[in-house]
Amino acid sequence: MRRHNLSRLLRILHLGGPVSRADITRLTGLNRSTVGALTTDLARAGLVVERDPVGRGVGRPSIMVTPNEAGAFVLAFDLRVERTIAAVVLLGGGVASRREARHAEHDPDPDAVLGQLERLTAELLADAPPDAVCLGMGLAIPGVVRHSDGLVRFAPNMGWVDVPVAARLADRLPGHAITVGNDADMGAMAEHLRGVARGSQNVVFLAGQVGVGGGIILGGRLMVGAGGYGGEVGHMVVNPRGSRCRCGRRGCWETEIGEEAVVRALGGRPGDPVDALLAEVPSAAEAGPLAEVGRWLGVGIGNLVNVFNPDVVVCGGLLRKLLPLVADQVRRELEVALQAPREQVRLALPGMDRDAALIGAAESVFEALLDDPLGCVERIRAEAAA
Ligand SMILES: [Zn+2]
Repeated sequence: MRRHNLSRLLRILHLGGPVSRADITRLTGLNRSTVGALTTDLARAGLVVERDPVGRGVGRPSIMVTPNEAGAFVLAFDLRVERTIAAVVLLGGGVASRREARHAEHDPDPDAVLGQLERLTAELLADAPPDAVCLGMGLAIPGVVRHSDGLVRFAPNMGWVDVPVAARLADRLPGHAITVGNDADMGAMAEHLRGVARGSQNVVFLAGQVGVGGGIILGGRLMVGAGGYGGEVGHMVVNPRGSRCRCGRRGCWETEIGEEAVVRALGGRPGDPVDALLAEVPSAAEAGPLAEVGRWLGVGIGNLVNVFNPDVVVCGGLLRKLLPLVADQVRRELEVALQAPREQVRLALPGMDRDAALIGAAESVFEALLDDPLGCVERIRAEAAA
């Protein structure tokens, strides 16, 4: 019971920021003395800081409880096709000492990328709060990842097949808990916990870039499927007469709305920078060449709305810029989706810019702390002392 209450309380603070003891009492329904005992336990473990408020007004103001940024942190990595973004993510969600490192753009050697992760880890650890507990490493990867052991089964845009990323990192960096997951799954969790889909229990998150990834949250939980491979919406076939996909099939959704399709529609050549081409399209009124891409975007979203009945579909990555330009085509295609789920869904742009995968990777590691705050800290401190 105590563990459950500590878990609830730290989750409120980590995701919501500072709260007064009085508000915690109201939010949790626990009595004042229980809340006081719980916050004292969390403060002793270094996870929260309690301060007398500098308030004016009538009556005795309630003590403010703040997640302790200097108490615990995660090393988060967003591995992309051409570079890695890394950061220290502090308890409470603050991002500190952000770094980027580029790697070979085409089929980077896994060992070279792992070496880069090892170097970034050393740099981040040197920057991290000195006495804080390091909870572990979280990695978002653009590929199909086995949930049980972090084996990357297939990352087509990196040319990786069956790369045991979590196991090899554990060899290089012993003593760190390591979570590896699909980037769109991580992005979906970040938007659900902290972003534009906060408060929504049923979310479809789309991350379009070279490929199109999907992360799906149902009833507040990430849908992983039997092995962790669920949500590969980019490989749902929408146009069987379309072009060949990296997965081997023809007319997958990502061949119609991914980077290459957008570059082609705008008259670019393969490899041209899609962001620069999109930036040259000033408004939806001048987005005529993108009409077909917009139609396919709407067709796919309509399918997802029919299957999952989400409250919100978040269009991330490349789709963030694309959606406003082709909103009319998307709306027209959505109008032929089933009426009941269509009435409930809203389309949204991400709340956390391009950091969704990075933040989601961090949250996947924070979960162990939020589940059992004191037990997790004790375990890590004991391991560090051994
Ligand atoms: Zn495919």
